[in-house]
Amino acid sequence: MKLIKRNQFSLFLLFLVFVSGCKTASDSDFPALEVAQLEQAYQENQEAAITHRRFKHADLQPLIQKHSETFDVAELGKSVEGKSISSLDWGNGPTKVMLWSQMHGNESTATMALFDLFNFLGKTGDDFEELRTLLKENLHLKFIPMLNPDGSDKFQRRNALDIDLNRDAISQISPEAIILKGARDSFEPEFGFNLHDQQIYYNVVNTPQQVTISVLAPGYNYERDVNDVRAKAMQIIVGMDKVLQQEIPGGVGKYDDSFEPRAFGDNIQKWGTSTILIESGGYVGDPEKQYIRKLNFMIILNALHQIATKGYEQYTTEQYFAIPDNDLQMVDLKINEMNVEIEGKTYPVDLAIRRNENNAGDTYSVSGSVVDLGDMQVYFGFEEKDASGLTYQEGKVFETTFESVSDISSEKAYELLREGYLAVKVKNAEAGDLHNLPILLLKSSDTFSAGWKTGSRPNFYLSDGEELKVAIVNGYWIDLANPEEQEFKQAVY
Ligand SMILES: [Zn+2]
Repeated sequence: MKLIKRNQFSLFLLFLVFVSGCKTASDSDFPALEVAQLEQAYQENQEAAITHRRFKHADLQPLIQKHSETFDVAELGKSVEGKSISSLDWGNGPTKVMLWSQMHGNESTATMALFDLFNFLGKTGDDFEELRTLLKENLHLKFIPMLNPDGSDKFQRRNALDIDLNRDAISQISPEAIILKGARDSFEPEFGFNLHDQQIYYNVVNTPQQVTISVLAPGYNYERDVNDVRAKAMQIIVGMDKVLQQEIPGGVGKYDDSFEPRAFGDNIQKWGTSTILIESGGYVGDPEKQYIRKLNFMIILNALHQIATKGYEQYTTEQYFAIPDNDLQMVDLKINEMNVEIEGKTYPVDLAIRRNENNAGDTYSVSGSVVDLGDMQVYFGFEEKDASGLTYQEGKVFETTFESVSDISSEKAYELLREGYLAVKVKNAEAGDLHNLPILLLKSSDTFSAGWKTGSRPNFYLSDGEELKVAIVNGYWIDLANPEEQEFKQAVY
């Protein structure tokens, strides 16, 4: 440095300022966000008012109001039942990004994450000022949380017209579809995030690995071509996958890219917006999807950073195609080789059982169902049990009617189960009343249903010929000698 004369050094500095001023933001200027940073950002900004996935449209309105000082909030229109659908705009940058969630009412995980993200973007004076400034100067974000408020309030997929909004991108029969199409056309975003939930039963194809997040750069034609628009979506997804692999190694799957001519994702891609589909699946031990909410926050923030810095350009479409495909091969319980007897003959069959959710206010109960039986090697159970040497046996309904649910203790329920009673009748209870007992509660014995065939309620015993070894109650496996601690999410029926 001593060898450089003072005025030369000043010129050199001036040159440096000039060069950095001319350069567009690139990945070298802004290295990729660390997972630890993304986690910290989530921890500090989680929206405390949302604690479970069955929140309602009314729960969100005060939160939207809260953000109207830092976001440009507008009502885009109303749902079939007249509920407001709002957009929240943030940032002054040239690159436009639109994010919409919950066009399917019972797919709420990303909506939770968006409200966490609003807290993050609206904050000042924390460790993330530099990142926030970067996003603000490079991006213009438009969020449309809860596109289907009527469906959301009933926690159902479809809107109040019983139309699947994701099959209404072209006809636009529904006001909600008109709103989304109108927002896309007037805003003309370069990037779009189409935020959904998938069933918890998705896995990495032909493996027992559950898929917690599925991704897709939707196809825009039947040929599944890749143009520049779609390629950019693929590159963004590769960056998201890098983050996810550190959190949930192996837990990411790629959706089938068959073209659906009526779907929004496919058409928005076709209309020139690089569209990224995120599908939140299941994660063992996270029934309310609060961990998956955090993952959504992390990958969306990461993607926004990548868009702002063009950091995604380092990734290739080959890396996208290397993400494994998903499939729908998981079941809650797989019972291997239980014997069933028909016409005096014994047959060994595997049973694949799912426990489907029924809405009950802020929570749910389950209805077990036999999905399929026979050779079930193409299914993987969250729980898998060997029943070889055990034979199907019917259960009974206890003769005496109980007054109320509170008269039946857990101990009493197990005692009855061991005596061959799968169900008890309760006088002062309504169908749908929730309980967590390891036995069936019925309004009357007429409603008892049992069986092992496809579609039936899996309520039965497994016996070794001398004693009852296992009770299958509403699809739950209960080892009678040594019952495991588990949560029975049941309802009176
Ligand atoms: Zn969906």
